[in-house]
Amino acid sequence: MKRDKLIFKLLDEEQQRQEEGIELIASENFVSRQVMEAAGSVATNKYAEGLPGKRYYGGCQVVDEIETIAIERAKQLFNAEWVNVQPHSGAQANAAVMLAVLQPGDKILGFDLSHGGHLTHGSPVNFSGKLYEPHFYGVNKETGRVDYDQLKEVALREKPKLIIAGASAYSRDWDYEFIRKVADEVGALVLADISHPAGLIARGLLIDPLPHCHIVTTTTHKTLRGPRGGLIMMGKDFENPFGIKTPKGEIRMMSSLLDMAVFPGTQGGPLEHIIAAKAVAFGEALSDSYMKYIVQVKKNADAMAEAFVKLGYQIISGGTDNHLMLIDLRNKNITGKAAENALVAADITVNKNMVPYDDKSPFVTSGIRVGTAAITTRGMKEKHMDHIVELIDAVITDPENEHSIKKIRKRVHKLMYDFPLYRDKDSE
Ligand code: PLP
Repeated sequence: MKRDKLIFKLLDEEQQRQEEGIELIASENFVSRQVMEAAGSVATNKYAEGLPGKRYYGGCQVVDEIETIAIERAKQLFNAEWVNVQPHSGAQANAAVMLAVLQPGDKILGFDLSHGGHLTHGSPVNFSGKLYEPHFYGVNKETGRVDYDQLKEVALREKPKLIIAGASAYSRDWDYEFIRKVADEVGALVLADISHPAGLIARGLLIDPLPHCHIVTTTTHKTLRGPRGGLIMMGKDFENPFGIKTPKGEIRMMSSLLDMAVFPGTQGGPLEHIIAAKAVAFGEALSDSYMKYIVQVKKNADAMAEAFVKLGYQIISGGTDNHLMLIDLRNKNITGKAAENALVAADITVNKNMVPYDDKSPFVTSGIRVGTAAITTRGMKEKHMDHIVELIDAVITDPENEHSIKKIRKRVHKLMYDFPLYRDKDSE
C-alpha cells in the first residue's frame, strides 16, 4: 500500500503543534506512547459485539482477555463493583445510562450548560434535552458555587427521575451525599458524570461519588490520561435500587440494563483497540508515578489560579479544588472568543467558555476555561505557572498587537522546548 503522505504530513504538523504550544484545554491531555500503541494496534480489526465470554462473533478469545483486564483495572482504580468499558465516548456513556433508566419524556435535572454543565445533561440541542424533559440548577451568583438550595427546590417541585451531578467547567468539588438525600426524597436516581476530575477522584484527591450515586460515568481521556472514550460504573449496593421493570414487566438488574443500553442500545461493536488502550491507561493510573502526577495537576491548578488572581483576573468561585478554572474576562474588556483567538496565535491553547449569568452568546462568551492536566504531563511544576499566566496576560492585554504576539509565541516555544513530548523519552 502506498503511504498516505498527505495525512501523515498533517499528523506530523499536529505533533509539532502539540509539542511547541502550551496546552491548557482542560479536557485534553497527552497519553503515553504505550497508550497510543495500544490504540493503534491490531485490535482495531476485531468485531466483538457482546461482552467477554458472551460474544456474537468468533475469534474473540484474545480481546475477551483484554476487555476483562480493562474491567478489572477500572474496578480497582475506582473501587467500583461493576464497570462497562465499552462506551465510545462520554456522550455515549451518558446516552446509555439515560436509555437504561428513563423513558422518553421523563424529567431530568442537570447542571445548567451556561453555568458549567455538559450538553448531555439536558441541553435542548442534545438528545438528552430532546428525548427527556430537562430542568436545571446552577451556581449562586455571589459564590460561584453550585446552589444546592436551588437544586433541592427544583427537585422537590419537578420530581425528576434522574438527577445529574458533574460538569465541564466547574472548579469545585461536589456534595454527592446531599444530592443523594434529595434524590431519595423524590424517588430519583443519581448519575455522577466525573468526566473531568476522574483522575483526581480515582486517587482520592476529591470526594468519591461511588458510595452515594447510583451510577457514575466518565470519559477516559481527560485527567485520567487514557484514549478518547467512556466508562460506566456502579458502586456497592446499586444493582437494583428500584426494581426497574422492563416493558414486559420483568425485573432487571441495573448492571444488565446498563450493559444492554450500551450494546445493543446505543452502540454496535466495541472498539477493542481503544479498550486495550483504556486497560493500559488504567494500569498507569494505578501507578505511583501517576499518583505523583495527579497531585501535581492539582498543585499546578492552585498555583495558576493564584497567579491569575494576583493579576486581577476573576476566577469563578475564587479558586479551584480540581484541575481547572473558569475565568470571567469582563473586567479585562475582552470576550472569550477574542481571547481564545489571540492566545491561539501565540500557540497558547485555551477554549472560550460561557461564565455563569453570561450576557454573551456561546459563540462569543465572556470567559475562558483553563486546565493543568496536559502541561503537568509535560513536567511543569508550580514555579512555571506564574510564567504561563504572565504570557497569557501579555496576550490578553494587547490582543491585536501582532508584533507582540509573535514575540510571545517565540517565548512559548522556548519554554516548551524544555518539556519534551514524544521526542526523546516516553511521556510518562
Ligand atoms: N460529560 C462531561 C462532563 C464532559 O465534560 C464531556 C466532554 O467534554 C462529556 C461528557 C462528553 O465526552 P465526549 O466528548 O467523549 O463525548
